[in-house]
Amino acid sequence: MIIKEIPVKMFFTGVLRNSFVGVFFLLGTFSIAQERDYTPMNYQSTEENLIIEHLQKNLAQSLTRLANHSHREEIIPIYEQRTNTLIEKVKNNHFIFDVPIYDQLQAIFKQILTSNPELKEKKPFLFISRNIWPNAYCLGEGSIVINIGLLRHLENESQIAFVLCHELAHLEEDHANLSIHEHIEDWNQLLESDQFKRLKKQKYNRSESFQRLVKNLNFDHKRHSRTHEAAADALGMSFFLNTKYDPKAAISCLEILDHIDEEKQPASIALEVVFNTPNYPFKKKWTKPKKQGLRAMKRDQPEEAVLDSLKTHPDCQRRIELLYEKFPTIQQVKQEDEKSISNYRSDAPQFDFEIIQACYDFDQLGLSLYYSLKLLEQYPDHVYLRAMIGKSLYSIYQASKEHRLDEYLPLPSSHQTVAYRKLLRFIHNLRLDELKKINYHFLETRKEQFAKEEEYLLALILSNSAMENQAATKRYIEAYQTQFPTGKYTLLISLL
Ligand SMILES: [Zn+2]
Repeated sequence: MIIKEIPVKMFFTGVLRNSFVGVFFLLGTFSIAQERDYTPMNYQSTEENLIIEHLQKNLAQSLTRLANHSHREEIIPIYEQRTNTLIEKVKNNHFIFDVPIYDQLQAIFKQILTSNPELKEKKPFLFISRNIWPNAYCLGEGSIVINIGLLRHLENESQIAFVLCHELAHLEEDHANLSIHEHIEDWNQLLESDQFKRLKKQKYNRSESFQRLVKNLNFDHKRHSRTHEAAADALGMSFFLNTKYDPKAAISCLEILDHIDEEKQPASIALEVVFNTPNYPFKKKWTKPKKQGLRAMKRDQPEEAVLDSLKTHPDCQRRIELLYEKFPTIQQVKQEDEKSISNYRSDAPQFDFEIIQACYDFDQLGLSLYYSLKLLEQYPDHVYLRAMIGKSLYSIYQASKEHRLDEYLPLPSSHQTVAYRKLLRFIHNLRLDELKKINYHFLETRKEQFAKEEEYLLALILSNSAMENQAATKRYIEAYQTQFPTGKYTLLISLL
């Protein structure tokens, strides 16, 4: 993994302004582009069968390497499950394929492999995951995964290349598989240990003693993983130095990782402004904290990414020091051939939109709403963002109506950022009736402007159907069918 332990407390957001400026510079246009086009892509790969075939071949190859392993029987199901999970994810649109971003990243990946031909032996394959955690990892059978949650933070191709080199080093050193093997061996050792045998005879506190034994085991694994990380940085760096990319990007990349849990654009979303409409003015009581009751009890929500900032991986600084020790020349490198490196990434801002779509598609409605509102501060007239706010609010309304809100939206809690907590409090304070009205009036304010856009039209259809405005719903549905006869929401609309 590029980030060793996924921090529990983490916050990430924001567009890299520099790259944004760079994009337009590179495109040679002088217009100040306020809006950035974004249309959700088709996440189904046209080469799905080929990819699955490749994954199955890689699995078969990993299994043959196990031929003489003493714990073969125990390892095989773990390998199989790993590949099957990946295949399921491919089928369920967890990855990005077939778009220019995909080609750009594959080109970087290919560039690294061409500069380091020995890496080709394990037939590595790069996946771009729609996961919003800022992370990348290597699965051990050949797959390298980089999350959009990390990509949106990286500033240039060289930094991406460094991350990929680090993961390829894990692959080359077989770290993921070794961890599995070590775990199984340690586990077997534990079961055969005198301590465990004594424990079995114990009359009382057996589970406590067992937990202590397991805890020691886990602690050891953490130590192993630290050595793996240092090794992957060093070997990854040597792969990286063989490429055309800027060596200094290794350092700037680790600096970014060091601060990745900090909020880039301290956000206070002006709910009072966004949702204040002429026909349905904002009520102050909507954002007032409720008296703490049982409902507000803190829960464990590991999937919730918008959490308060906390410095969680101080070891990035140590990793930088180690790199300097091992590769003292990095500091002196002069970039001779500036043109060989893309200094700015044209795709970075796109990922800020991609995470919104991913949150929405994977039912994290609090987050799709939150990220949309945040980005709306930057692009106040963005049709996709406005439509997404409408769609998220509609889904929240539906979930609330069916008493299933807790499946899609967490309760406000102290480990979230102030802005996210405020948003959640606002949503939880609203009555059903208020929720649908806020959404309806929010969308109404721009209907003249955006009713011809597919996403916005869908949001209008949904909000009007929630309001039981039958005539308007019918009118919008007809408009949709005329404008988008083969539209992607045709089926959804027919079910209303
Ligand atoms: Zn790593």
